[in-house]
Amino acid sequence: MTDAAELERRTAELLAAHPPATTGRLDFLRARFDAGLAWVHFPEGLGGLGAPRSLQPAVDAALAAAGAPDNDPRRIGIGLGMAAPTILQYGTEEQKRRFLKPLWTGEEVWCQLFSEPGAGSDLAALGTRAVREGDSWVVNGQKVWTSSAHLARWAILIARTDPDVPKHRGITYFVCDMTDPGVEVRPLRQITGEAEFNEVFLTDVRIPDTHRLGDVGDGWRVAQTTLNNERVAIGGMRLPREGGMIGKVAKTWRERPDLRTHDLHQRLLTLWVEAEVARLTGERLRQQLVAGQPGFEGAGMKLSFARLNQRISGLEVELLGEEGLLYEDWTMRRPELVDFTGRDAGYRYLRAKGNSIEGGTSEVLLNIVAERVLGLPAEPRTDKDVAWKDLSR
Ligand SMILES: Cc1cc2nc3c(=O)[nH]c(=O)nc-3n(C[C@H](O)[C@H](O)[C@H](O)COP(=O)(O)OP(=O)(O)OC[C@H]3O[C@@H](n4cnc5c(N)ncnc54)[C@H](O)[C@@H]3O)c2cc1C
Repeated sequence: MTDAAELERRTAELLAAHPPATTGRLDFLRARFDAGLAWVHFPEGLGGLGAPRSLQPAVDAALAAAGAPDNDPRRIGIGLGMAAPTILQYGTEEQKRRFLKPLWTGEEVWCQLFSEPGAGSDLAALGTRAVREGDSWVVNGQKVWTSSAHLARWAILIARTDPDVPKHRGITYFVCDMTDPGVEVRPLRQITGEAEFNEVFLTDVRIPDTHRLGDVGDGWRVAQTTLNNERVAIGGMRLPREGGMIGKVAKTWRERPDLRTHDLHQRLLTLWVEAEVARLTGERLRQQLVAGQPGFEGAGMKLSFARLNQRISGLEVELLGEEGLLYEDWTMRRPELVDFTGRDAGYRYLRAKGNSIEGGTSEVLLNIVAERVLGLPAEPRTDKDVAWKDLSR
């Protein structure tokens, strides 16, 4: 297995062959992928070297110190955090070779076509249909809340291929070409005023069977890989101490003695400790994940991320008083990324409301923790053995 010394040697080799000061950004990123230094735990030939995942931060740090560009991970979070691990686990060799490199370099942005107007928490009830026609599938339906669909070249998509079996069994997982003429993307205005996400209408979209991920009817299992990775991607970001929202409010506290009260101080200290505990728990989770795919543990991380973000951003607005109510007018702007630290307190407060909805609502994650982590009795389910077409909608 590739060790730290070998990675150091390869990093130096990459920098010598492609000096960041004289190499174009994309050329550097492509060369980094080819050298196996993109995500070192991926297999050789697919941007990695089969090295332990824990060695990645040292590679990132060495490249950053040498002035190398990064792949702007926040802009391509859905591709990196959700599509890539799913393609790696279920994709054919051809799919892995086609999709992973431009995904990692950011040349191709990905989005996630899962939620529908009638299927969010109960995602397995989805109604978008995919019907086989020769070597293709013809897809019709509507998706909603699709972040970055307006920027995306590809989507991970789940659709119903067999309505005659119970809902979890009749779903198949595809890669959908967002430039297909049958794909229509319409902006949706959210609480911040901007339109970070969209509704997506699929009308006779043709997906070649070669763009199916996993077996026909096995899409629910494939989707679990995406969803478990999504919770870690949303809730388990690697941060330095005071790196997230807590850093913003702590900075305001230090710089603005005029705003301080005893009560706010107590609450800030409590939240600071909780944020630090969550950060260190995330670090431990990442170490446990070194060996494999995340399981249901990510649900807990995502839960605490959402709760903390909402409480911290609420405290910040309270601390700032009237100033906290002032914010820029973002109406129908189409941001490329969610930036919790680079914008004003009003944005953070409003955007954090979505944290307990996106990637699974907090109520549903509590159910997952109760059932899958703590082993408590499951909620009663009356639709488990009923064909999807016979369910009431
Ligand atoms: C900012 C943001 C970005 C998003 N991006 C994407 C994206 O890119 N792609 C995508 O596919 N989706 C995306 N979503 C959609 C998100 O996954 C869904 O909104 C979420 O899963 C909830 O589904 P729903 O909105 O249909 O709510 P519903 O499922 O209708 O839930 C309504 C309420 O009922 C509660 N509830 C439902 N079932 C239960 C239960 N069994 N027990 C207890 N309470 C329950 C919920 O917690 C919630 O409070 C995004 C959402 C947000 C807010």
